[in-house]
Amino acid sequence: MEQKVVIVTGASRGIGREIASLLAKEGNRVIANYNQSFEAACQLKNELEEMGTQIDIFKCDVSKREEVCKMVDFAMSQYGRIDVLVNNAGVDNEKMFLDITDDDWNYIMQNNLYSAFCTTQEVIKYMLKQKSGCIINISSIYGTAGGSCDVHYSASKAGINGLTKALAKEFGLSNIRINAIAPGAILTDMTANVTEEDWEEVKKEIPLAKIGMPKDIAKCVKWLVEDDYTTGQIIEINGGWNM
Ligand code: NAP
Repeated sequence: MEQKVVIVTGASRGIGREIASLLAKEGNRVIANYNQSFEAACQLKNELEEMGTQIDIFKCDVSKREEVCKMVDFAMSQYGRIDVLVNNAGVDNEKMFLDITDDDWNYIMQNNLYSAFCTTQEVIKYMLKQKSGCIINISSIYGTAGGSCDVHYSASKAGINGLTKALAKEFGLSNIRINAIAPGAILTDMTANVTEEDWEEVKKEIPLAKIGMPKDIAKCVKWLVEDDYTTGQIIEINGGWNM
């Protein structure tokens, strides 16, 4: 694979970490963004460097435009281009609908939806000049199916799906592909509070009868990075949970 300059947001843990690691091992120049988990980000960098793979880690809260601008400036000043943006950073805060406060709503929207809007805006201006680019948004099964006790999160991910499709239409002629991946249930810190009993119940609803791993999502990201003819798609990776 030809070396590409890639930004992966929320790459200190879980799905983002696996995406950053796989793309770096494939020979790409990856900037792995983190916010609060400095030690986990350093661990990723050390692990890869021990294997002879280079990676940059960059602290930035993607819900704040001024911090996003600094990350994008770093990428441009170091490498002069950005070929791939993976908007993966996200948060969840399950609550009954009537318990969701305005602050809860704003927190989820700012971290899951505004972050992707803002990071895409700051990156896509360089992709336009390059006349090429690939943007991958990490959505969720809840964005299409809806999740009980997760209305604000589901709405933010439905927003990601709309953002993805509208951007794909606006930027197709500029040779910029924008797609989303909608994971089902994936084993990460985000799902760490799910009990064994609950997992067994979830598995009964999944045709492949197993919970996904971060690598299942990373493999699809790698494929989208290499592809030339896919845009505006919401690719569901969920063991068949949502059909
Ligand atoms: P996770 O293990 O909780 O990791 C979340 C990552 O996002 C961390 O690296 C965290 O960084 C980063 N992050 C959160 N807010 C950020 C911010 N404002 N700025 C920068 N980084 C931020 O979650 P995950 O399961 O890997 O989820 C990754 C993505 O997949 C999310 O968009 C999530 O909604 C989506 N997803 C997950 C599942 C699942 O079952 N796990 C299912 C569907 C969709 P720090 O720790 O450094 O702050």
